[in-house]
Order: sequence, then C-alpha cells, then structure tokens
Amino acid sequence: MTAPLTAGANPFQDRETGRRLIARIGEKLDRLGATERKPVRLMEICGGHTHTIFRHGLSGVLPAGLEFLHGPGCPVCVLPMGRIDDCVAIAEDPRVIFTTFGDAMRVPGSKKSLMQAKADGADIRMVYSPLDALELARRNPDREVVFFGLGFETTMPSTALTVLKAEREGIANFSLFCNHITIIPTIRAVLDTPGMMVDGFIGPGHVSMVIGLKPYRFIASQYDRPLVVTGFEPLDVLQSVWMLLDQIDRGVVEIQNQYARVVPEEGNPQANAAIDAVFETRPFFEWRGLGSIDESGVAIRERFARFDAERRFAVRSPAVAEPDSCQCGGVLTGTVKPWQCPLFGGACTPESPVGALMVSSEGACAAYHQYGGLRKGAA
Ligand code: SF4
Repeated sequence: MTAPLTAGANPFQDRETGRRLIARIGEKLDRLGATERKPVRLMEICGGHTHTIFRHGLSGVLPAGLEFLHGPGCPVCVLPMGRIDDCVAIAEDPRVIFTTFGDAMRVPGSKKSLMQAKADGADIRMVYSPLDALELARRNPDREVVFFGLGFETTMPSTALTVLKAEREGIANFSLFCNHITIIPTIRAVLDTPGMMVDGFIGPGHVSMVIGLKPYRFIASQYDRPLVVTGFEPLDVLQSVWMLLDQIDRGVVEIQNQYARVVPEEGNPQANAAIDAVFETRPFFEWRGLGSIDESGVAIRERFARFDAERRFAVRSPAVAEPDSCQCGGVLTGTVKPWQCPLFGGACTPESPVGALMVSSEGACAAYHQYGGLRKGAA
C-alpha cells in the first residue's frame, strides 16, 4: 500500500495532522453508523483529486465506512472517440501542424491515437500552452497551425485569450479545434443518473478558481447534496471529507470552500469575461461513455469563425460505439468500480488502453492500476 501523507516540509502533507484528521473522520463515520456494507459515498469530481487520493494512499487509511467514487472530471478521459478521429483527420492534412497537450496523445480513437498518427508521419507537436501554438503559427506562415483545445473552465480562459490575441495580431493561419467542456451540466448529469449513490461532492479546486462557488448552489438546493470545493494536497482532501461528514451529521446541506486560500468565492471575473467573449454554449456535446449531455460543451462564436478549425476543416465527429465490455460510463458515474470492468488489467492497461480512463494519470482506471488497486476493496 502507498504510504499515506508524504513526510516533508510541505505543511499540507504533515503526518501528525493527517492522523488527527483521520481519527476525527472515523468518529464522524461512527456517529453516522457508516459501515463497509453501508458506507458514506463521496464523489471527487476532479481527476486531480483522484490522483491525490491514490498517490497518498488515502482510501487505504480511512475507515471502511467511507467510499470514494471517482467522477467525470478528467477532461482527457471523457473525450469521445469520434473527436479523436477528427483530430487525427485534421492532423493528417499535409498543410497542418497539429498541436496538443501531451496527455491527449495516447487517447485511443477508433483507428488510431494521435501518437500513432504522429508515428505514421502526421506533423503533430506537443505544446504546453495555446500561446506556444500561436507562436508556431507566427513562425510558420505557410502552414495551418491547429490547437487542440480541451479541458473544463480551468483551461478555457487561456484558450480564449489566445484566440483574442490571434485576432488582435491578425494571425491568419491559426485555428482552434474546440473540445472545451463545462463542469456544471456534468455534475447535473451525474445527479440525474439512475441509481445515483453520491452522498456529497469533493468539488474541483482549479475549475472553481474561475467559476467561483455560486454555480454549485443548485446541488444543495435542488438535489439536497453538499459540496466542498477542495485543494489538491492530502490534508486538503481529508479536511474536506470531514467537512462533508460534518454537514451530513448536522443535517445541513451547503456549498463550502475548503480551498479559500486559492479560490475566491466569486471566481475570476476577467477569466469569465474572456470565456464569454470567445465561446458560446453548444446545445449538446457527446461524452465518452456518458452519451450526449445538454449544454455541456462550448463552441467558438461566429465572430471568431476564422479561428474555428471545425469550420476550416472537414470535421465529421462520427458517433463511435465504445469497445465491447468497456465500462467507462459506469466508472465515470460512480456506479462501477474499475476492477469490475472485465477488461481491467487484462485487455486494458496503461501501456495498451482500451478506454480513456486508463490513459491519463487522473483517470480512475489508470490510478487504480498504478497504485495497486488491482483487487476488490483496494479503494
Ligand atoms: S478498464 Fe479500460 S475499458 Fe474498462 S472502464 Fe477502465 S478504461 Fe474503460
């Protein structure tokens, strides 16, 4: 088992504080009568929290009366195969330099991943920001540079600001293949899932820096579930678990901010203004394993049409069925554990992923695989 709470100078990884928090969580679970057979189930929406929970062995040191469910907050994991196929088609156009974050390279499409397309000769380059892609466009005026924009509200502002910069500078050979998605309809889709078992949410820290706390209020008022916006250190997660259990214990349902040192209650108005200027809501957007979710994606506004790769290239977005036996959808909604998927650890491994949850380190299946969750009850 991974050693919990890494020792060191980081005060958010202090072992003694962690032990005290774990004891207090145990007391709360006892008060609530939670057991392994009847656990309190908390969903971490963000893949970053899934990674923290596994890397620091939190689920292994917490009482059996607490169960983590791993939600759909890893943007790489929820990319549908048809959109990866679109990326490959654009990238294989000989006029194009296709740019992407590295973690999208290995996501399987129906025929190949971007990594395989690159091996087959497509000009695909990894970048660290959309501004890197814009710089490539400046330096290669005879090529079409396409940036693969993906992620929740965390990454949307930098993409939007890059499009605004491209417009200001009159750069004509830059475009964006927009696959940005929004968190709130996603949470609503989880809450509306038949058999939904979530007792409370560990809310995403980075997304909340942009959107603030207000958009989550419906979760408490309409669905009677608490949410605590949470940081990414192990003590952040433990404190949020205690805050959620405390709400349940006191019979209150609120949206709270554990990550106040970073997340302003009202979010980031400048970032939201850039998002609003460049993007508009799509009526629906397809998610890998979850089907179509209304108003969950954004597209580029008409004003910026010349920077829209979807309009500049023939993008088909074919509907592609998930591979036989793949349980990604169930894992994403917390109704299936990774080890319950018949492909887990056999046909589907991080080296040879069948589903996208095995690709990114923030994907639940990859985290289970990497940190020893190959058996029932490991997390
Ligand atoms: S093991 Fe692979 S196919 Fe099964 S749910 Fe996980 S990622 Fe999807």
